[in-house]
Amino acid sequence: MKITLFGAAREVTGSCHLIETDSGTRVLVDCGMFQGYSVAHQLNGEPFPFDPRSLDAVILTHAHIDHIGRYPKLVRDGFGGRCFVTHPTRLLSRLMWRDAAQVMKDDARRHRRPPAYTPQEVDPAFQTLHGMEYGVRVKVSDGFHFTFREAGHIFGSAFVEIEADGKRLVMSGDIGNDDVPILRDTAPRPTADAVVCESTYGDRNHESVRERSGLLKQAIMDVVGRKGTLMIPAFSLERTQEVLYELNGMAEGGEIPRIPIYLDSPLAIKVLPVYHQFPEYYDRDAAELSKTDDFFRFPGLHISREASDSRAIDSIKPPKVIIAGSGMMHGGRIMRHLVQYLDDPENILLVIGYQAEGTLGRQVTDGANRVHIEHEDVDVRCEVRKISGYSAHGDREKLLRWLKGNGGSGRPAKIVLNHGELGALENLADHCRKEIGAEVFIPGKGETVEV
Ligand SMILES: [Zn+2]
Repeated sequence: MKITLFGAAREVTGSCHLIETDSGTRVLVDCGMFQGYSVAHQLNGEPFPFDPRSLDAVILTHAHIDHIGRYPKLVRDGFGGRCFVTHPTRLLSRLMWRDAAQVMKDDARRHRRPPAYTPQEVDPAFQTLHGMEYGVRVKVSDGFHFTFREAGHIFGSAFVEIEADGKRLVMSGDIGNDDVPILRDTAPRPTADAVVCESTYGDRNHESVRERSGLLKQAIMDVVGRKGTLMIPAFSLERTQEVLYELNGMAEGGEIPRIPIYLDSPLAIKVLPVYHQFPEYYDRDAAELSKTDDFFRFPGLHISREASDSRAIDSIKPPKVIIAGSGMMHGGRIMRHLVQYLDDPENILLVIGYQAEGTLGRQVTDGANRVHIEHEDVDVRCEVRKISGYSAHGDREKLLRWLKGNGGSGRPAKIVLNHGELGALENLADHCRKEIGAEVFIPGKGETVEV
């Protein structure tokens, strides 16, 4: 069988991989958007480099927009087959697409650029989704079966075990961090002839769980002491819910004083009920806690649904905490708060997620003293702190452990690395060669690897 990478090839966004078997089955794994750089919208609007009508099926690993974002366009452009997802991913995808379509609609008006699809094109795509359980072997054609396994990356995330042409191929999607609140652990990697593995953090290791909670608590205590504002730009799906889960524990356990904490992210707010709907996918601690406590509600938490609620935060005296999207400071309600609070040394900007090249978040974390936001130049005088332990992605140590297969499953002969910037890819590749002895590929966009 052949795998061709049409996105997330030597970069972290746009996941879109075509699998072609010797017997003629064609399956697309993920159909994500390109994000972060100035021509991303152009790439997202371009025709697919394959005929959507020629695909037998699509498999989407999880509801992050860089893995699902172009799917409504694929349907609009002629894909008429079935699309397989886990049950939570099915519901989360619709929320993510509606949000993306609205952002593109606004952009189209403001910058006169055509959207990749419209809000009206979301529901026809949603109708094609088939929700599946983890661990169930699904037949796509006589020669192609696959099984979803827990990836532990975001709610509903899966990696995919594919059986075709007498071979086994594992596609990682995104592999989660260890001990993530609410989520179950990543399932062991099954036996495979080849593995396609993400490499987001292929060149570094994260802090431990205890350290990351301690650092979050410290940031809150510091703004309380300084009477400052703590800004936490967070991805609406997963990171925000994990932070809320931890804040819930701190607030209800009396570890932090009662100060206003604003959840100022319409998309993150819409995601909360999907968690409530699938408690069977919680890890043991969250499942136990959920019997007695709604961990998305605690003293001091304010939900800012409307734009007017968001503006009203300005008039609240610090100390206060604002959690708002987007996670890479590339749009969303966080932008207005950045303009408001970046220039005050009493404030803290707490960065808890990956910041892709080309984003404002990357500029600020790289140490920019002055940034341009919504037609304004803003001085960065606040303290900028990073906690990598909240990343939804496993670090190098985790990826290698998963690739080696801790369940004793044979080591793969071929490893294809995707979803990473070049330094991370090369670093992880070196480790894969030395520690696993596999043949490693880092394909460019449009390049094919034979399994
Ligand atoms: Zn992801």
